[in-house]
Order: sequence, then structure tokens, then C-alpha cells
Amino acid sequence: MNWEDELYRHHGPLGLPFHFWTLFIGIFGAMTGSFLNVVIHRMPREESIVHPPSHCPTCNHRIPMWQNMPIFSWLMLRGRCASCRTAISPRYIGVEALTGAVCRGVVVLRRIGPVGRRFGVHFVGGICRSHLH
Ligand SMILES: [Zn+2]
Repeated sequence: MNWEDELYRHHGPLGLPFHFWTLFIGIFGAMTGSFLNVVIHRMPREESIVHPPSHCPTCNHRIPMWQNMPIFSWLMLRGRCASCRTAISPRYIGVEALTGAVCRGVVVLRRIGPVGRRFGVHFVGGICRSHLH
């Protein structure tokens, strides 16, 4: 039985429940969304994507890791910069939540049945298969 069959038939790999893995994939998706936010903000300004590190565009406050976690940090800070309290666009949490939900949803859909499978994670399944076999 391969990695993917194990995930969909009984329990996830390492004996962890299915929704542990969907949550894990969702968090990974939200992190991807967080990176997309950087791209969305910096690309039109022709700024580098990797440098300088995350900072508030208003007060230049350097954003530490705990203030830079997808979804969670925006909620903790109630959508405002920790230093100058300037509002942070809800687009940030929106993109993070959407990317996370799409990634998780695709895996869940695929478990539901043939339709889910059709629109599901053939590509994720393919990646898992090619790397774990
Ligand atoms: Zn600020």
C-alpha cells in the first residue's frame, strides 16, 4: 500500500489521523499564501521578494517571526502593526485563509468520492508518490 492509499483508507501516515494531515497541508497552504502576500505587495513596487526582511511599510518596524505567522498573527494583532498601530489590510489574512482552505479542501474533497477525486489532488498525490517511492 502506498502513502496515498494509506492516507485515504485508514489513517494517515505515521498513524496520525486524516485531519491531522489535512490541517498540516492547510497550514502549509497558509504559509504559501503568506509568501504570496509578499509577492503581491512587492512585485508592483519592483522591490526584491527576499530582501529586506518583513517590515511595516509605515514605520519600518521589523516584523519578528511570531508576528509573521499566517492568519494567527493578523488576528493576534487585530489587523494592526504592533509598533505604530497602522491598519494591516485584511487582504493579508484573506489570501492566507483562502490559500490554506483551498489546499486543505482539495485533499478533503478527494476523500469524499469520485467527483472530489477528479478535481482533487492528482498533482499532490503524484508528488507524494514520486518522492516516497
Ligand atoms: Zn508600523
